[in-house]
Amino acid sequence: MIQTVVLATRNKYKFNEILELLPGLKVEMKTLDNFPGAPEVVEDGATLEENASKKAKSAALFCGFWALADDTGLQVDALGGAPGVYSARYAGPGCSYSDNNLKLLAELAGLPPEKRTARFCCVMALSSPAGSVITVEGRLEGRMTCAPLGANGFGYDPLFLIPGVGKTLAELTPAEKNALSHRAAAVVKIEPYLKRLIGRAAS
Ligand code: IMP
Repeated sequence: MIQTVVLATRNKYKFNEILELLPGLKVEMKTLDNFPGAPEVVEDGATLEENASKKAKSAALFCGFWALADDTGLQVDALGGAPGVYSARYAGPGCSYSDNNLKLLAELAGLPPEKRTARFCCVMALSSPAGSVITVEGRLEGRMTCAPLGANGFGYDPLFLIPGVGKTLAELTPAEKNALSHRAAAVVKIEPYLKRLIGRAAS
C-alpha cells in the first residue's frame, strides 16, 4: 500500500520547491486542494515551530493522512530578528511580497552591508493522522541587499544575498535555490521520517 502525505500549504512556490526536493519518494503527495473544506489555519503562534505544527496537525486531523507543513521566517539581525514569525504580514494584513520588501528596505535604509546580516529559518512539521507532530529546522545565512535583484523565487528572495555565491536567491534557478536553501536543509532532516513511513506502509 502506498502512503499518502498531504502537503499542507496553499503557497504554490513552497509546494513546488518541496516536491522538487523529494524526487522519487514513493508517497502519494496530495495538496489541501484535494480536500474541499479543509480549514484555513490562523498563523497566530508565537514561534515558527508552533505555526508549522498547527498547520501540519490541522491538515492531518481533517484529511485523515500524514501531513507535512512548513513555516518560514526571515530574521534580520539589525531588526532584532524581525520580521521573523511575522514575515508573511510584515507590511500589514493582506500585504503583497513587494509591500514587505519595500518596508524592509526602508527599515534598513543607510545600513552598511556588514550590518545587513540575516537568515531564513524554515521549520518543517510532520503530523501523524492522529495529530502527533515532529519538527525539524533548516537555516540559510545571508545578507539583505539595498534593492531587489532577480526575478525568480518568491517572497524576500530578491533581497536575500548569498555572500559565497554573490547572487540573491531570486537570481538563482529553482534547482540552484534548492541546492542550498533553508527549505532544502529542513527537507534533508525530515526525509528519514518520511522514508520510515514508506517502509511501514510497504511491510
Ligand atoms: P509562511 O511560512 O508561509 O508563513 O511564510 C512567511 C513569509 O516568508 C512568506 O509570505 C514569504 O514572504 C516569506 N518566505 C517564506 N519562504 C520563503 C523563501 O523561501 N524565500 C523568500 N521568502 C520566503
